[in-house]
Amino acid sequence: MAEDLRHHGDSDAVPGLVDLAVNVRSGGPPPWLRDRLVASLACIDAYPDAGPARAAVARRHGRAPEEVLLTAGAAEAFVLLARALRPAHAVVVHPQFTEPEAALLAAGHEVHRVVLEPPFVLDAALVPDEADLVVVGNPTNPTSVLHPAELLERLCRPGRTVVVDEAFADAVPGEPESLAGRGDLPGLVVVRSLTKTWALAGLRVGYLLADASTVQRLAELQPLWALSTPALAAAVACSSPRALEEADGWARGLADSRDELCRALAGVPGVGVVPDARASFVLLRTPVTDLRARLAAEGFAVRRGETFPGLGPEWVRVAVRGPATNASFAAALHRAVSGQPAAPRPTPVGSVALVGGGPGERGLLTVRGVELLARADVVVADRLAPDVSALLRDGVEVIDASKTPGGRSVPQEQTTAVLVAKALEGKRVVRLKGGDPYVFARGFEERAACLTAGVPVEVVPGVTSALAAPAAGGVPVTHLGLAQEFTVVSGHVAPGDPRSTVDWDALARLNGTLVLLMAVDRLAAIAAALVAGGRDPLTPAAVVSQGTLPGQRSVRTSLAELAATVEREGVRPPAVVVIGAVAGLPEA
Ligand code: SAH
Repeated sequence: MAEDLRHHGDSDAVPGLVDLAVNVRSGGPPPWLRDRLVASLACIDAYPDAGPARAAVARRHGRAPEEVLLTAGAAEAFVLLARALRPAHAVVVHPQFTEPEAALLAAGHEVHRVVLEPPFVLDAALVPDEADLVVVGNPTNPTSVLHPAELLERLCRPGRTVVVDEAFADAVPGEPESLAGRGDLPGLVVVRSLTKTWALAGLRVGYLLADASTVQRLAELQPLWALSTPALAAAVACSSPRALEEADGWARGLADSRDELCRALAGVPGVGVVPDARASFVLLRTPVTDLRARLAAEGFAVRRGETFPGLGPEWVRVAVRGPATNASFAAALHRAVSGQPAAPRPTPVGSVALVGGGPGERGLLTVRGVELLARADVVVADRLAPDVSALLRDGVEVIDASKTPGGRSVPQEQTTAVLVAKALEGKRVVRLKGGDPYVFARGFEERAACLTAGVPVEVVPGVTSALAAPAAGGVPVTHLGLAQEFTVVSGHVAPGDPRSTVDWDALARLNGTLVLLMAVDRLAAIAAALVAGGRDPLTPAAVVSQGTLPGQRSVRTSLAELAATVEREGVRPPAVVVIGAVAGLPEA
């Protein structure tokens, strides 16, 4: 057997190329599912309990829990079946996913192949009568052909096991030909995967549905606790009515994208598309045998055909993606098969996210911020940004853009240039700032520079220290009876300094709360200006340094005593100063 049955699309997905080789939905799992996986870590100290997942999967397919076996992906299901079954005449219908045959061979079984010819429509008469094990995919990887349920039903009979690989069944809206719910068919085993639709290839979660005694036999061969707690949480989450509805909506969108891709490919001379594609990929026959190399020059990775029994090097499998990718792929294929030179590849543009890191305590990061950090290639962080090292992937480049007052300082232009340059290299850059990126943080300038350079920017607000530090020190910035407004002011230059744009006289006349940032070293001048403008020297004041951090300190004083108290107590930046009646509220 010449084919490398252990070759899979992941080896064809070369970094730097648009990946059409792997059939996992792009963009990762939806945020709600990611949240469920993260939440499951709360119970990571306990051994996994497969009970709820088994019940949820059983309910989803109208089966009894005893008819469900959760497996570490469909791949484990094929290995368990190969080890448990003792077929006298095993038949694998090709071309199909090669792991079932590889597992049967590894378990020492002889495998008889039924190799379908294009257009790869199954004819039950091709399956020999003596077959006591038949493995077939539906819809079939790599042909994308969906066999009628009624035809597969006819293959089922007492004394024969029929394994239907339904790893892609949920890519078909309504799953019309699925046999997953059919507990009545003798010898039927349906294998399912949560990998593709939910983009969970790294989690390893799938299951099989069979009669209770087969499930029992397979379970005995499975290692104890074969699925992790997060994998089981995914099985529960992906079996919920809400998840099924979402998957069905996705499958409908996919069907439209696929039909559009097929129409575009039909216009490429010499290329044949296997008709009636129903899964999340299409199979193509092309007039050239070095197509993958030509497509790589165009920036696309596709799945090679020749490792599938029944196909040769003129076949490739292509994952269905969005409209823009489909269209540029069709154009690239056209050039590749007609021998035209590859179009110059536009440099991939990455992205910049301006993420507000909150006041310092990592728990005050936003969920969106954590998501972006988890997938960042480069993080450009300020000194006051929280420590996020535990949230980053290995090998992430972390660049320090600290602007320590009076100390080492990286000029703003340099930081902006780094953001743009890294994004233009195709990197996903997170610009992590303390507090909120638009509060005294130059976020808007950084955004403008990125947009000018054609780099997409996302701005993620953060919890500003202007509010969080007072709160952490026990001071509310508003209070119905005391302060019906608050004003946040930068004290980075003193009153009277020509660079100042602050009207200190106007601030002095306000009744509400004043919140000063970057003011610690100019408090004498600031307090004098406020008193000169008419603020009562006895107005309560509070200073909170290192708010929300382990070194947090707060001191209470009055406007008149503010500078002296800060000096005497040795309060150092970063600190937020609150002036107003709210600073006099009792702490406890
Ligand atoms: N964008 C930031 C503010 C940047 S200016 C935000 O929204 O919070 C820097 C100033 O923020 C510091 O001089 C200090 O006044 C204040 N600051 C930042 N983190 C702080 C913290 N943990 N505790 C007290 N003040 C803090």
